[in-house]
Amino acid sequence: MATSPQVDMLEPSQEPASPAGCLRLWGGNAIVTDSTWKNGVVDWTEDETAFVSVPFTWELPKAYQRCIMLAAEGYHVRAGGPAVSLMPDYLADVAEIGGEVDALPHHNPNATFTSRGCIRKCQFCAVPRIEGKLRELDDWAVRPIVCDNNIIACSRAHFDDVIDKLKPLRNVDFNQGLDTRLLTEYHAERLAELHLPIVRIAWDTISYERFVMRAIDRLTNAGISPRRVRAYVLIACEDTPEDALYRLETLRQRGINSFLMRYQPLDTLKRDAYIGPHWDATTLISFKRYWGRPHISPKWIHFNDFDENWKPKGNEAQPALTGMG
Ligand code: SF4
Repeated sequence: MATSPQVDMLEPSQEPASPAGCLRLWGGNAIVTDSTWKNGVVDWTEDETAFVSVPFTWELPKAYQRCIMLAAEGYHVRAGGPAVSLMPDYLADVAEIGGEVDALPHHNPNATFTSRGCIRKCQFCAVPRIEGKLRELDDWAVRPIVCDNNIIACSRAHFDDVIDKLKPLRNVDFNQGLDTRLLTEYHAERLAELHLPIVRIAWDTISYERFVMRAIDRLTNAGISPRRVRAYVLIACEDTPEDALYRLETLRQRGINSFLMRYQPLDTLKRDAYIGPHWDATTLISFKRYWGRPHISPKWIHFNDFDENWKPKGNEAQPALTGMG
């Protein structure tokens, strides 16, 4: 779901986090939310071959140098990952490009895919370009971190199979976020059967408001409290700061913490270089400083009054952010 590729998650300080937001793998993608994720470019060797997996296009220059080093060590170098799928020419003179390689365990041994692709074509997302249409996998590793792009778009039979197989596990995490346009009461009730400390949804554009609110209601009615829900909020794409602020404030009023996700173009070689048409650098920094710290209460200070020098007083305790309540 809409968490996708080439976004820079401005991670709340209390989450286990990687500095990168969305880790796109060798033909896949996954948002980095678990401390066991290896950040950025990952490489490993098998016999005479070295593999280099590149999640983000802004890491391609670093990957280029890594490929040169591995080749100098005598390896045949192969490169893949979402960034390579998006810009296959970049590493073409230092590595063999693409092919079917299971890179996910090298990024996180607790992660799995049960489906690939997506039914949608969101313009800011690379999944439609690099994975194509949704397809359910018959054979998948049962692991707690599920990186499917859109698990809710899968068939009832597949969704049920996934839930049934995940039920014995602890700390299950659908880390791409759930598609609020498709999330039914049935999905919510089945999700509530899992040990799922955090339930991730996304609110990409203002036009999805009724779907997001409906999904929150359905999750709450199924017994998943708002404090267990996290919302990915895409900013600085086609939206305005006012639009983003409305989404963030609305979620906060529902008791839900947000992850800011700063849009990054699908071919950028420099992270955070892009500034949306309705944004400026100062505003982006302000959003990051305030909304990237979800423990800040509006009772203490509002966004419009906030500056980088603000500090909480001693008696402003930070609320717990996780738990199964
Ligand atoms: S295309 Fe699919 S995976 Fe990408 S943001 Fe849209 S719903 Fe999510």
